[in-house]
This record gives sequence, C-alpha cells and structure tokens, in this order.
Amino acid sequence: MKEFARKQREENRIVGLVPTMGALHQGHLSLIKQARQQCSSVVASIFVNPTQFSPSEDFAKYPRTLPSDTEKLENADVQLLFLPEAKEIYPQNYSTYINVEGLSERFEGRLRPGHFRGVSTVVMKLLQIVQPQFAYFGRKDAQQAAIISRMAKDLNLDSEIVICPIQRETEGLAMSSRNIYLHANDRQSATVLHRALQAAQLLLQNGTRDALSLQSTMNRVLTEESRAKVDYAEIVDAQTFEPLTHVNRKAYVLIAAKFGETRLLDNMLVDFSENGQLTTEL
Ligand code: AMP
Repeated sequence: MKEFARKQREENRIVGLVPTMGALHQGHLSLIKQARQQCSSVVASIFVNPTQFSPSEDFAKYPRTLPSDTEKLENADVQLLFLPEAKEIYPQNYSTYINVEGLSERFEGRLRPGHFRGVSTVVMKLLQIVQPQFAYFGRKDAQQAAIISRMAKDLNLDSEIVICPIQRETEGLAMSSRNIYLHANDRQSATVLHRALQAAQLLLQNGTRDALSLQSTMNRVLTEESRAKVDYAEIVDAQTFEPLTHVNRKAYVLIAAKFGETRLLDNMLVDFSENGQLTTEL
C-alpha cells in the first residue's frame, strides 16, 4: 500500500483516501464520488477495526460483504482497495494509541468507552500508510469526523479532512451498515430520528434558539415512538461537542437511540452565514 501511494505521489497524482469498515452502501459511495471529483487516485480501505469495538459490541457479527463491496468499488472507479488484516495493523506487541482528549469523552465516547481511541488510532495509521492529500469522512458520524479533524490539526498532518453530507433513505433514515440489523418494524420506527430532527429544524427556522425548547420538542417526537430507546438528543458546539444552551454558533443537533439491539445515530448541522442567517442541513 505504501509503495503504491508513494508511486502515485511521484506521478504527481492527488491521492484521496476513503476509510470504511465495508458493507458498503450509498453513503460510502458518496464519499468515493466526492473523492473522485477532487483526486486523481482514490484509495478505499475496508477494515473492521477491532480496537474500536468493546467486548460487548458487535465486532464478530459486524456485516462483512466483501464480494459485493469489491464490485461496488470497481464500478465506482476506485484505483485501489486497501484490505489489511488485523494482524498487519496491530502486530504482536503493538502499543501506540491516539487519544483526542475531551472530545472523545463526550456522547458516543461516554457510552462507548475506548471507542474513539480505537477510531483515532486506526485512522492515524491509515493516514500514515497512504499519506493522502485528502481523506473523506461522513457527517453521519459527526463526533468521529470532529475528532479526526481535531487530530489532523493537533498533529500537523498533511492530509486535509473532508466531511461529506449525510446520505439518507427516501423515508429519511440515515444510511448505515447497521441498518441491515433492523427488523422491518424497527426500520419504520427508526425514521423517528429524522422526524425529531425535522421538528427541531422547523423551530430553528422559526427563530427558536433556546436549546432546551429544541430538546423538549425532539424528546416529545421521540417518545411518540415507543420502540425508540433514546440515549441522547442534544445541541452541541460543532468543534468541542460541549452542550449549548443557546444556538448562536455552528452546532450539531445530535440524536442517538436504540431500536431493538441496534444503535443508530443521526444529526443535523446548524450554521450561520456571514450575514447571520441561520442554515440547517439534515
Ligand atoms: P463505516 O464503514 O460505517 O465506518 O463508515 C465509513 C465512512 O462512511 C465514515 O466516514 C462514515 O461517516 C461514512 N458514512 C457512513 N454512513 C454514511 C451516510 N449515510 N452518509 C454519509 N457518510 C456515511
């Protein structure tokens, strides 16, 4: 992989990296599409990273669909698929980990201790191996994207981190490899995440800036769906992920909930243009 990437750089190609855990869907393919537009050589990686799963999580049964993944990557005109094995990424006596402090301890980090340590470490390693000019991540995992952007800045990495929009099913559910775990009735129920975000969006567009009001509206929508076990529905600063009481700067409206055994995340980006006009992006 290193040799290939080095050669691409020698040929003055712009190298883009799209890290994934496979079970590819349109969300992943949208990152590849964006990479194809900006780069002359696109590397996709598939690696189900053991260090980001806790012992109680779904590492062993995480969906693995390599034959259809490779077909999708070929059709998407990816130059190279990097498919390392766990023992190559974490050989015996492996001992170095990246921890992005603060940001990694909130929300997903609090509920999944050690998760972001595993994510930051593997992404750092992938960036070191490929040394891409651009690396692409989805806003679907907003906290992950913020942590990786922070890491790239803090550690003076040469790769630019690009955060791409959320791809959704027609009924609003954010695409995710884990959606295949959802039973039919849970899949229907899970659209409540999008509906709760839309309710917050409407309030924001009508001038509400008080985070508590937005939160209670979202919780009202979420409780209408008894199958949803909500972990959090909050408004946070987009850089630090500290909760906001007043929405007056770039922020995320975050939701996480469990449907059956499947935990799903969703969010909405809130920003302000130069003239102070509020914008929202689902
Ligand atoms: P994963 O394979 O779940 O680790 O995801 C690989 C990359 O694809 C991550 O940067 C995700 O944020 C991104 N991604 C996953 N689902 C979506 C989606 N629905 N829309 C956009 N990006 C996504």
